[in-house]
Amino acid sequence: MTKVRTRFAPSPTGYMHIGNLRTALYAFLIAKSAGGDFVLRIEDTDQERYVDGAVDLIYRTLAETGLVHDEGPDVGGEYGPYIQSERLPLYKQYAEQLVEAGAAYYCFCDKERLEALRSQQEAAKLMPKYDGHCARLSKEEIEEKLKSGVPYVIRQKIPRKGTTSFYDEIYGKITVENSTLDDNILLKSDGYPTYNFANVVDDHLMNITHIIRGSEYLSSTPKYNLLYEAFGWEIPAYIHVSPVMRDAHKKLSKREGDASYEDFINKGYLKEAVLNYIALLGWSPGGEQEIFTLDEMIQAFDIKGISKSPAIFDPQKLDWLNGEYIRKLSPEAFYEKALPYLKEAVKSESVDFHKLAELLQARCEKLSDIPEQLDFIDALPDYEPALYCHKKMKTNEENSLTSLKEIVPVLEQVEDWNRESLHDALFALIERLEVKNGLILWPLRVAVSGKAFTPGGGIELAEILGKEETLRRLQKGIELLS
Ligand code: GLU
Repeated sequence: MTKVRTRFAPSPTGYMHIGNLRTALYAFLIAKSAGGDFVLRIEDTDQERYVDGAVDLIYRTLAETGLVHDEGPDVGGEYGPYIQSERLPLYKQYAEQLVEAGAAYYCFCDKERLEALRSQQEAAKLMPKYDGHCARLSKEEIEEKLKSGVPYVIRQKIPRKGTTSFYDEIYGKITVENSTLDDNILLKSDGYPTYNFANVVDDHLMNITHIIRGSEYLSSTPKYNLLYEAFGWEIPAYIHVSPVMRDAHKKLSKREGDASYEDFINKGYLKEAVLNYIALLGWSPGGEQEIFTLDEMIQAFDIKGISKSPAIFDPQKLDWLNGEYIRKLSPEAFYEKALPYLKEAVKSESVDFHKLAELLQARCEKLSDIPEQLDFIDALPDYEPALYCHKKMKTNEENSLTSLKEIVPVLEQVEDWNRESLHDALFALIERLEVKNGLILWPLRVAVSGKAFTPGGGIELAEILGKEETLRRLQKGIELLS
């Protein structure tokens, strides 16, 4: 059996769209689950779109997410070069071969003629399409124009009649009328190929067996098929994947900050969680399991599980998944990742960041949730006395004041300021007063944080704030309630 070879063929646009990363992931999984090769090819023939540093970003993202390619510009391989701008002579040679075979032709039409044609078609409400003018030039006319150096492009010669069909693994058999297809440009006047041509030549020369790409290319695939046929090349398997959408109508957008992989990393998501989440966007593993390592995905992946309908990006699901990954980190690994966010929120030097991290690991879904949870550490926020009233804890302003007054002398006596001794001292008080825990612990929590929702309870927070600051805050609570 031929070895499965897939490729990820990004254009260096300067960011990694979530949909593109998912395409890369599926291409990787299809290759790896069949013991095949995963190839990286950079499609940079659209020089106007070239962005500095964009190729490095592609390398970095693939390396970070573990989608390691077997061949590519940075690692080499026997089918190189893997950057399209370094393959220009090849495209020219193959385009000329098509001209010879009668499947393509030189077109000398200038901009003015093409614009006039387009306006006429628009006025007549026709589909804008090249009219085949140069396909009818005689051999002599062509020779003569070439000799005198008239600029030209090479266009694909689409049969005027009949239909073209292709088979897609996800969408099934698709047939189009040839009359709806345009004689697209294959080679531009500057010698650069268009995407429509380069992808076919490269996928063939690189022995790609399965083409995984966005469904926006479905409509062009009949033209690719005609090219394969004209060359007499074997047609690869097509796997077009549906787009990733924000909702039923809108795409993810770079401006909204929800379109690129980097956006999510910057927002404090873990790369493993993002990768796991996008795997499930349009692929159903078919069981209950939702959390997959990359190796587990390789084991479980099956093209049959890829969905036809657009995938809706669900931020809540991603948050949930990310929370699961955060919980799975070792305390030390979480601390490392959380540190920049802890430092952003807390300037006070006496605070033990390890202890803070310990509290937060169980209580955040993404790292960027951290700062807002800690907005009371450096300074006690203003709060209303009503915060002391808690139905379930059976606290009100009056009994909270009594509790705070009982707590202060007890905590003043605590010498070894740590969680255990605070716990012992406060529970001894609870026992002595014969009250419910909440009657002491709720007022403590409110007094030290000024908030109803905090990472950790009063004891943990008091430990982190230290003796002096805790007593100061308790005193403030007493003043507020008096
Ligand atoms: N360069 C194309 C893109 O970035 C790739 C399409 C394909 O995979 O064939 O959209």
